[in-house]
Amino acid sequence: MEIPFLSLKDITAKYADEIHETVNRVVDSGWYLQGEENARFEQHYADYIGTKYCIGCGNGLDALIWIYRAYIELGVMQSGDEVIVPANTYIASVLAITENGLKAVLVEPNPNTLELDENKIEEVITSRTKSILLVHLYGRCAYTEKIGDLCKKYHLHLVEDNAQAHGCEYKGQKTGSIGEAAGHSFYPGKNLGAFGDGGAVTTNNKAMAECIRSLANYGSSKKYVFKYCGRNSRLDEVQAAVLDVKLRHLDEDNHLRQQVAAYYYKNIKNPDITMPTRLHDENNVYHLFPIFCEKRDALQEYLKNNGIQTLIHYPIPPHLQECYAGFWEGLSLPITEKMANQELSLPMGPCIKKEEIKYIVEALNRF
Ligand SMILES: *Cc1c(COP(=O)(O)O)cnc(C)c1O
Repeated sequence: MEIPFLSLKDITAKYADEIHETVNRVVDSGWYLQGEENARFEQHYADYIGTKYCIGCGNGLDALIWIYRAYIELGVMQSGDEVIVPANTYIASVLAITENGLKAVLVEPNPNTLELDENKIEEVITSRTKSILLVHLYGRCAYTEKIGDLCKKYHLHLVEDNAQAHGCEYKGQKTGSIGEAAGHSFYPGKNLGAFGDGGAVTTNNKAMAECIRSLANYGSSKKYVFKYCGRNSRLDEVQAAVLDVKLRHLDEDNHLRQQVAAYYYKNIKNPDITMPTRLHDENNVYHLFPIFCEKRDALQEYLKNNGIQTLIHYPIPPHLQECYAGFWEGLSLPITEKMANQELSLPMGPCIKKEEIKYIVEALNRF
């Protein structure tokens, strides 16, 4: 058997009729940017997440960059202010902070939940700490009541990186609506994926929404009048239309992911393999299914020889990347580094077949 990590082809095929009809409609309309499709998707996505505003933009990294740039433009933050971010995130979370001249303060995750450790936040707070960038990594809800309390106590602006968690909830509220603003990615492999790059910011803050809409459109809100030195970072009409179709099926697709995860949790029995704490389904949309193994590289090779494709998220944490040489001199992050050495992501998605999951589990238990 040959099992790919994720087959985008299968996901698209599932909705092929609706998607082809939609793409053809946009192509035939003759209008390709900043039109009805974008407005419709933004409205639907804001309603889905539960925020007043949604602003489409070029990609998930830009969405996060725009949020912090808006805080600076609005006078809420300034260069050199500190933002707390989990050390084990994808590099885009950290780039969004450093791109804005802000200081990224890396905090270790809880090894059981894999998310930002709520007990390690307070010790790094200084007079310059302005924000927490909470990443719902792997599709798991990273928000806790304690994190909310710390934000109140220290007047920290809570921002969410919801790139991996479309549809995830905390106590009935969607992630992406818990903090003051959230960045979303519609990279093709995400739970809600476009046919190329795409992203969005959701927020209830009107000033932030207006600022970001300008920033992502050259800094302009009125044609040929420029308030900010912005950039061009927009969601195009074809992507918005496709996302609108896929949004209608997001809950159903997430539910299929949860069924795959339930099978993994129930049947993986190899004592050399550990899995993160199992959350209630509403708190996990299983963007990825990470497992941990001391002999990770051997396990990956063995699975590959059995036709099973796996990936590592992520093999080198941000603080060890060349681009950040000298940024966090002497910082020791043993949990993050151990995770990077032991993590392996199993095939996960809404189109994996029952016999494939069974085959994967049998192979894992034989290792
Ligand atoms: C994918 C991702 C991003 C960046 O999104 P792009 O659309 O690829 O720019 C940011 N943060 C996390 C956690 C991601 O997984």
